[in-house]
Amino acid sequence: MAARAQRRRGRTDLDRNRLVRRRSGAHRVGLAHQAPRLPSSGLERQPAGARTPQRAQPRHECEGAARVRGGRRHRLSDCSVGEEVVVKVDFLIVGAGPVGLLIAVLLGRDGWRVTVVERWPTRYPMPRACTIDHEALRILQSAGVMAEHSELFEPSRGERGGYQIRNGEGELLRAINWNRAAESGWANTNGFYQPDLEAVLESMASALPTVDVRRGWSATAVAQDVGTVTLTVARTGNEAHEETLVGSWLIGSDGANSAVRDLVGIDSVDSGFEADWLVVDYEPLDDREWQAFVTQYCDPEQPATAVNSGPGRRRFEFMRRADVTVDDLGRAETAWQLMAPWNVTPDNARLERHAVYTFRGRWANEWRRGRVLLAGDAAHLMPPFLGQGLCSGFRDASSLAWRLSLIESGSAGPALLDSYGSERSTHVREIIEAAIEIGRLVCELDPHKAAERDVALRSERNDPLLTPVEPPQPRLGEPSLTRSGDAWAGRLSVQARVEADGVTGLFDDVQGGRWQLVTLEADPSAAVPPDLARWFRSIGGTISSVSADGLLRDADGAYRTWFENHGCSVVLSRPDFYIYGTGLAADVVPLLESLRGALTSSLVPAQEGALS
Ligand SMILES: Cc1cc2nc3c(=O)[nH]c(=O)nc-3n(C[C@H](O)[C@H](O)[C@H](O)COP(=O)(O)OP(=O)(O)OC[C@H]3O[C@@H](n4cnc5c(N)ncnc54)[C@H](O)[C@@H]3O)c2cc1C
Repeated sequence: MAARAQRRRGRTDLDRNRLVRRRSGAHRVGLAHQAPRLPSSGLERQPAGARTPQRAQPRHECEGAARVRGGRRHRLSDCSVGEEVVVKVDFLIVGAGPVGLLIAVLLGRDGWRVTVVERWPTRYPMPRACTIDHEALRILQSAGVMAEHSELFEPSRGERGGYQIRNGEGELLRAINWNRAAESGWANTNGFYQPDLEAVLESMASALPTVDVRRGWSATAVAQDVGTVTLTVARTGNEAHEETLVGSWLIGSDGANSAVRDLVGIDSVDSGFEADWLVVDYEPLDDREWQAFVTQYCDPEQPATAVNSGPGRRRFEFMRRADVTVDDLGRAETAWQLMAPWNVTPDNARLERHAVYTFRGRWANEWRRGRVLLAGDAAHLMPPFLGQGLCSGFRDASSLAWRLSLIESGSAGPALLDSYGSERSTHVREIIEAAIEIGRLVCELDPHKAAERDVALRSERNDPLLTPVEPPQPRLGEPSLTRSGDAWAGRLSVQARVEADGVTGLFDDVQGGRWQLVTLEADPSAAVPPDLARWFRSIGGTISSVSADGLLRDADGAYRTWFENHGCSVVLSRPDFYIYGTGLAADVVPLLESLRGALTSSLVPAQEGALS
């Protein structure tokens, strides 16, 4: 695939993807748009003050003209004397938040030329997300993050599974097992510090020779034709200074107030759920052990959340009551007053930040307009009661990156993107609804309704048949790029430890493969016709057999258990770790043929989404 991609990139070098850099006052392409002045999340009512535009970073006109990778020269841009600069770009990404940066790393590692445009000159220094799940960590593993930076993540621990819902009297109403090992090979839930993760992602993106992260530029206009997207950007703080970028695809990962979403005219649907919450991050100065990793205090007097927010950090969140103004809630004194009942005081804690956010549930009603795609908060917002906003954004990144890579390398057609929105929107809406459901439990201010809620939760708690596992793990929505009629298709696949040649580790590190065909015990390779095996390898597929004592040893017996629980002995997983299809030994060839058919049929033209 790499050689073909390189050939194709070489061809397109000659005939498309031009970046024309103009001086201020030059022509504007497409719809003009003033970038919003709000903080990126759009939720923070009281920003920490670090978002004001800072010094403009000087940038040499010809920076990044050519860089060397592994001995090959990739021309990122060609400088000419005078006003025009022609630049080669495969992908434009608007927004260098965690989702945009992850997409840049995933595409850049494949050698694609990526330009990321970010309106702020420096990174947002404050955390929003503070917990991350196993699936998101496997995605970060695929981007190369976990090999060097697994210490950023602290697995959930604490009593009763780590996630507790308690009422105003402190009675435990529901306990959820977040402490378990999970099917992606990583701890089910982990605390982390978002600015540290963003710093790692940005340094990885910037270190890639084909990725250019351009800070201090705001997207202001988008136009597209059948083959390209044209993006106008303006210097933050000097809007009269504009440039025009051209790429094959544009990804809008520009947060809740997405300019890209507005520019291409995609509407959002609002769930109607909305509540203001004070978010307080602090560094404990004592070494107190907290009973739970996350506790939701469903106290109608003062709903609150306490959470382990990564190594050496804690967070409290407090809902705004009707008799408190946003301004009052946002004061430091209020934060200390609200934390006092837990004996968190200036003597034993250092306040890192306090800010009021509006928690709401919302989703874009389209994820693609022609060559423009949405990802992350630009596509969906949810209240953070399940810690799933960023995790969902990382799922978008993974789902998008493999599709775009296959399309640009010529192994699939743009029609493959039709299933991006249908798969992701159904999946994320189920999670948004679950987060809102927990939110309604926690945010209840009416004491009578709160008492009724407690009765209902007590009876659920005492029902041995009910063991809540949250957040939910929905199936991908339809239409999806999966084998139809398969009960497990579209569900999350498994990663566990294997051993080969004396090396024991997680499957993706030891055996690897983007598309992974894994069988239990019997090696299926001989049954696969050579042309099919060659094609599968060309898209990054691997065929492996795990067994109790073979060449690829099922180190903990987890694969055997998984196959037994799923009633199959073969699984074909996609690069975003969702199951394409399952079966028995005889299904190996039909599964691969079915995948080849699906990707090949996407090459048939005339199925592109409508242009804006
Ligand atoms: C209080 C709180 C707690 C949370 N807790 C969790 C949690 O525990 N777990 C979890 O998974 N999620 C959590 N989330 C959600 C998570 O923080 C977000 O989903 C995630 O940060 C979104 O990342 P993003 O990259 O999509 O958007 P952002 O991080 O918002 O990045 C968007 C970027 O685009 C840039 N941008 C915007 N407009 C333009 C423009 N016109 N031109 C150029 N650049 C532009 C912005 O400056 C910004 O840098 C929480 C959110 C909040 C508010």
